[in-house]
Amino acid sequence: MKKFVLVLNCGSSSIKFSIIDPIYENIYLSGQASSLNLKNSIIVWNIENKKYLFNKKKFMSHNYSMNYICKKILLKYNFELFKNVVAVGHRVVNGGIDFKKSVLINTLVIEKIKKFFYLAPIHNPINLLGIIKIRKIFKKLRKKNVAVFDTSFHSGLPKKSYLYAIPKKFYNKYHIRKYGAHGISYCYILKKISDIFNKNISKINTIICHLGNGSSVSVIKNGMCVDTSMGFTPLSGLIMGTRSGDIDPSIIFYMHEKLNISIKEIKNILNNKSGILSLNTKSSDFRYSEKRYYVSKKNKIAVEIFCYNLAKYISSYFFLVKNKIDALVFTGGIGSNSSLAREITIKYLNNFDFFIDINKNKKKYLDFNFVNKNGTISILAIHTNEEIVIAKDTFNLIS
Ligand code: ADP
Repeated sequence: MKKFVLVLNCGSSSIKFSIIDPIYENIYLSGQASSLNLKNSIIVWNIENKKYLFNKKKFMSHNYSMNYICKKILLKYNFELFKNVVAVGHRVVNGGIDFKKSVLINTLVIEKIKKFFYLAPIHNPINLLGIIKIRKIFKKLRKKNVAVFDTSFHSGLPKKSYLYAIPKKFYNKYHIRKYGAHGISYCYILKKISDIFNKNISKINTIICHLGNGSSVSVIKNGMCVDTSMGFTPLSGLIMGTRSGDIDPSIIFYMHEKLNISIKEIKNILNNKSGILSLNTKSSDFRYSEKRYYVSKKNKIAVEIFCYNLAKYISSYFFLVKNKIDALVFTGGIGSNSSLAREITIKYLNNFDFFIDINKNKKKYLDFNFVNKNGTISILAIHTNEEIVIAKDTFNLIS
């Protein structure tokens, strides 16, 4: 009997689900609920090359779409296929200091994921919602649920990168440090680069920009992540769909002490009302600003600030690997799809002799090369596939 893994990847604005053969990497079903909590929420899925779609005509919450996915898609359409599912893999964004590797989920693990809600306040609760629903609805698989953590990838960060310059007790006692995120995606991309260049992962130096609704950039030296833009939580670093990215912490004191805004509301502002949304004032969806880049000042500046920030990170990371990288990679919904985001970012990196071939960049998919003037650095756009990594890790663990 073939053995499949059901994979659930609950993101801040989307839920991706798939049934995968973890050995041959065949995907038998894949689907996505996207634009959740926005008025154009939609669920699309694909079984054996047939496409289906559900559009409730008003916004769908994570909870509503999880129920729909489990009861109306996985169970109803897909019963035969589902019989071969031997385990479920869940993406969990932050595993704190306790989880350096994937684990089988039990009540203790659930308690710990709850304990780490504050480390990924708009992700971990949604990840746990998926875990709880699946354990409840698919009782036979209750003991075969695996948590795969985004933070595991960054667990080898050097101290100089993960320690903050704040009194030591905050690290020693409260474990306040940089944890990073998007590690599952970085894992997939690293393997891809290794295949593309036919080079062992341990020899790869690269800078990977994962640009989605949440965005981060990491620098990899000899196959190990040595720095990354997300920090204690996924709020820091790059500008994101609704998240501010790096700001001066004094802004928070000013908002609270002088403007009388509660801490709860400031948290909401920085997580849900900032980023691209606050710059263009209309939508967190990057496509909105991209479409209006040439005709609207507000949207132009939103794209420019997003790319300028990213370019600053890339340039500083470039020096950490002594200017020697095999590839600069763009991935995530924006990174792999938006030729504009890539073009503008590279424009800000002109001093490094990065150069972008405008025509190749406009190609929809993958492998638009080149190059700096020495011809040594490839610029790649690669579609990430976190689900494959989760399926393999899950299968390895339960086997
Ligand atoms: P998440 O972080 O929730 O996993 P994704 O990686 O799917 O999200 O990325 C979502 C982002 O990608 C949104 O801002 C969306 O606008 C952007 N995006 C998706 N497709 C395109 C495209 N063709 N061009 C530009 N941006 C895109």
